[in-house]
Amino acid sequence: MTGAVKAAVKACLDLVYPPVCQLCHQHRAEAREGFVCSQCWSQVRFIRPPFCERCGLPYDGEITSNFVCTNCQDLELHFSSARSAVVAKGVVREAIHRFKYSRALWFENFLAGLLVREAAPVLLAGMPWNDIVPVPLHPLKLREREFNQADRLAAHLSRATAIPLNRKILRRVNPTATQTLLTREQRAANMKGAFGIRPGTRLAGQRLVLVDDVFTTGATTNAAARVLRQAGAAEVCVWTVARGL
Ligand SMILES: [Zn+2]
Ligand SMILES: [Zn+2]
Repeated sequence: MTGAVKAAVKACLDLVYPPVCQLCHQHRAEAREGFVCSQCWSQVRFIRPPFCERCGLPYDGEITSNFVCTNCQDLELHFSSARSAVVAKGVVREAIHRFKYSRALWFENFLAGLLVREAAPVLLAGMPWNDIVPVPLHPLKLREREFNQADRLAAHLSRATAIPLNRKILRRVNPTATQTLLTREQRAANMKGAFGIRPGTRLAGQRLVLVDDVFTTGATTNAAARVLRQAGAAEVCVWTVARGL
């Protein structure tokens, strides 16, 4: 394209998608930045050590040795570890909420960027992983929402790490009630029997990365990890964009 045509196309696109931050609506932000400006970006809280080795819960203060939080000590966890890129607060919580429930798809680059930035170096550092598995939605919910946010985020992570994306092995077999208002125990009960493995799948010895948007109590990812382990997976680790505190 010539410069003039390019400029005209950009001007048209700017009318449809004005290059303004979609969180504060005040500062400039473009598509490749997920329409989030640098001021909003600076409010993102990355999760840094110390955090619980199993569930990734961050702790304030000076803990230098490895530790497991009190929550994890009385839970039966089926994943080896869960990690999140950032804390689910402020701008991140708003972007996730609008991405998921209001189809604000322009936040995808922002959210996936946070996940890739934190998860990719860790996943590529140790023993190789076989597949990235997004937490599936039940087909009824998928029809209603029209896209699976976990699937979109997992696809970015797969591209960045060259770990294959596997959408086939894990299935949501029971529709589950929304978890927002449930207690930790209720969430775990709610997720019982929610997932199944595609018949004929062999996972023996596989090391899998389970991806979701938010980790709150871990009920969802733990239920999913459970069926993957029962089907023979040697190890399941969990990565989410954000961690609810
Ligand atoms: Zn902003
Ligand atoms: Zn923990």
